[in-house]
Amino acid sequence: GPLLRLDSVNKVFPGGSVGLDSISLSIERGEFLSLLGPSGCGKTTTLRIIAGFEVPTSGRVLLDGKDITPLRPFDRPVNTVFQDYALFPNMNVQENIAFGLTLRGMSGRDRARKVKEALELVGLPDRAKAQIGSLSGGQRQRVALARALVCEPQLLLLDEPLSALDASLREHMQNELKRLQKELGTTFVMVTHDQTEALSISDRIAVMNKGHIEQIADPATLYDRPASKFVAGFIGTTNLLPGVFLQREPTGIRFQVAGDWRPVVTGSTELAAMAGTRLTIAIRPEDIVQMRKGDPDTFLGEISSIAFHGHSLRLLVKLGSSSLWVDVPRDRVETDIREGAVIALGLRAGACCPL
Ligand code: ADP
Ligand code: MG
Repeated sequence: GPLLRLDSVNKVFPGGSVGLDSISLSIERGEFLSLLGPSGCGKTTTLRIIAGFEVPTSGRVLLDGKDITPLRPFDRPVNTVFQDYALFPNMNVQENIAFGLTLRGMSGRDRARKVKEALELVGLPDRAKAQIGSLSGGQRQRVALARALVCEPQLLLLDEPLSALDASLREHMQNELKRLQKELGTTFVMVTHDQTEALSISDRIAVMNKGHIEQIADPATLYDRPASKFVAGFIGTTNLLPGVFLQREPTGIRFQVAGDWRPVVTGSTELAAMAGTRLTIAIRPEDIVQMRKGDPDTFLGEISSIAFHGHSLRLLVKLGSSSLWVDVPRDRVETDIREGAVIALGLRAGACCPL
């Protein structure tokens, strides 16, 4: 069975504000799972309930099938890396890392060996005696990781562990975290509000909104087949367009979208809808392609703005009363792209997701 299971966990705070609304979730051994969602959606509360710092109002927390809901934090084989690291400023690096081992009654040579291994693991073998105040943000982050990992928890919880780091170090540490997790085989549950971060390092992501889970899936599924408007809008950039289901055709379903455009959407033939049904169609900017004027199933739109995005240009295109984000790879521009120009656009096959 799964390593960790949350079974209908609710949290109502004193005063009546709802923190969590019936969260159920299974986490497999060795998995890297992220809790992703906007600020205030309940990510930290979920983590604190798993760690035991917070007691659920109802529901259970099961570890290895055993109900650990009543256990205190230090009686759980779980460690947490806090958002602000919570290092002890009056202790040096090795004392910080040794702290948990000392609490568990380990001392002498065993403890020294464990601390040394942990420092090597996080790439700080020569900073054992350094004071916390002399470390950079990235080094503090590594010490916090080492301190949590040295006790060999079955489950490591990380609350926005990289949010204090600048962009380039952050991307580097994302790779480090992933490598470390795979190397150790430890189960990680990480909280983040950064969808790029969640998509790049997680095996699975639980997308949270207002105290509940909207969807749990691997990154590609979340991106390609979002289960709700919220997920479609939160993961990456998405055009959410009102549409009408017109008819089934041999290659897919014909929708009317945004005025006069009637594209055939493939890959959604399992949709159990009837002609005339109103739906929202989610379309990624990279799934709209520039075509030649007059090609079948294209539509004409006017470019209202152009943003440089490295390997592509992101256009805002006016289409009737709607506006669409469209990514055009810079090496595949058909005609000159400029503000005010009218261009022909079409859909890539299988590129739409009706919600
Ligand atoms: P996130 O980590 O996703 O930003 P939190 O889990 O910290 O969100 O908070 C979820 C909701 O619960 C928020 O509305 C927050 O204000 C509320 N909340 C969190 N902790 C407490 C508390 N101790 N007392 C009252 N409300 C709280
Ligand atoms: Mg939080």
